Amino acid sequence: MTHQEHRTKGGFETRAIHAGYEPDAATGSVIPPIYATSTYKQDGVGGLRGGYEYSRSGNPTRSALEGNIAALEEGERGFAFASGLAAEDTVIRALCRPGDHALLPDDAYGGTFRLFDKVATEWGLHHDPAPASDLDAVRAAIRPGETRLVWVETPTNPLLNIGDIEALATIAHEAGALLVVDNTFATPYLQTPLTLGADVVLHSTTKYAGGHSDVVGGAVVVKDLDLAEQIAFHQNAMGGVAGPFDSWLVLRGLKTLGVRMDRHCDNAEKVVEFLTGHEAVSRVYYPGLPEHPGHDVAAKQMKRYGGIVSFTVTGGEQHAVDVCGRTEVFTLGESLGGVESLIEHPGRMTHASVSGTALEVPADLVRLSVGIETIDDLLGDLDRALA
Ligand SMILES: *Cc1c(COP(=O)(O)O)cnc(C)c1O
Repeated sequence: MTHQEHRTKGGFETRAIHAGYEPDAATGSVIPPIYATSTYKQDGVGGLRGGYEYSRSGNPTRSALEGNIAALEEGERGFAFASGLAAEDTVIRALCRPGDHALLPDDAYGGTFRLFDKVATEWGLHHDPAPASDLDAVRAAIRPGETRLVWVETPTNPLLNIGDIEALATIAHEAGALLVVDNTFATPYLQTPLTLGADVVLHSTTKYAGGHSDVVGGAVVVKDLDLAEQIAFHQNAMGGVAGPFDSWLVLRGLKTLGVRMDRHCDNAEKVVEFLTGHEAVSRVYYPGLPEHPGHDVAAKQMKRYGGIVSFTVTGGEQHAVDVCGRTEVFTLGESLGGVESLIEHPGRMTHASVSGTALEVPADLVRLSVGIETIDDLLGDLDRALA
């Protein structure tokens, strides 16, 4: 295979390292430079050298990232945004019109719910909740001809519910809707929704894609070229693009996504094993556990089960809060998907705003983003915090 072919047809890790960029013709630079430029010299009016005229419309560092993530998701085109929510807003405006209807997971990421409920609603988009793990509920809530988007996260946050992407794509398409999958938690290393029938894949690259808790970003990948045109138009018209330095950071993160995800999964599995036998733990939520309600679907569509683990403690809410305050290797903080382990209390932190609603999470729940540190240090830390 030529370098060009490896970039698009090689294995996951080969694509992660090579897709989106050819070593620069002028210097041989193996890594794309951070093209910190807003504009490009034209050779005569309209004479664009690389197709670039203004960096909102296109920037070579961003193009490298966009080509890379498209190759990893096995799509045709990728788009990089300033945040996951900027990506979501662009998808909504590009693919819906006022008066349309959307189905949202009943346990959607809080920022996604707020975007639909407080912003898109004002613009005229109606939405209803439907648990993506319950296909009958999705069938019942979908409005043929009116529902434009079926929006799914799998696994969900923080209870790690699983939606069957292939079945959801069929349900959406039969009703004339598009299936959008937020693939932030699984990443393309563990699951590729476009190959299972999804129309749009979306990421907060802030999480596993960037992977080092040093950048906020978002991405969209599609395989249909008409959808790509609509997203491209709105990306430029709305302008929520990823800057060149942020694009470079996410691209660097993606190169190691496969090895990082394997270690996240290895460590998460050992954490699950440890918690499952622990007397201070009442329930462990992880799609890799055979008793998890989404286990069979997860086994079918995911390569492994990811790095997020949630659990409830036997001592109630205060116990959960205390555990979160006592770890030393697990850092107490929001967000997830970085190399460092994080711990949080969803009820008072990431999910505080949904308390009292259908999205409310158990008060005695703790969520871990299991990082890639030495496993014995992680287990020792949890053991001390739970004691
Ligand atoms: C963080 C997150 C988002 C939002 O992304 P930002 O980069 O914070 O704007 C969307 N979906 C999921 C699943 C997330 O975890």
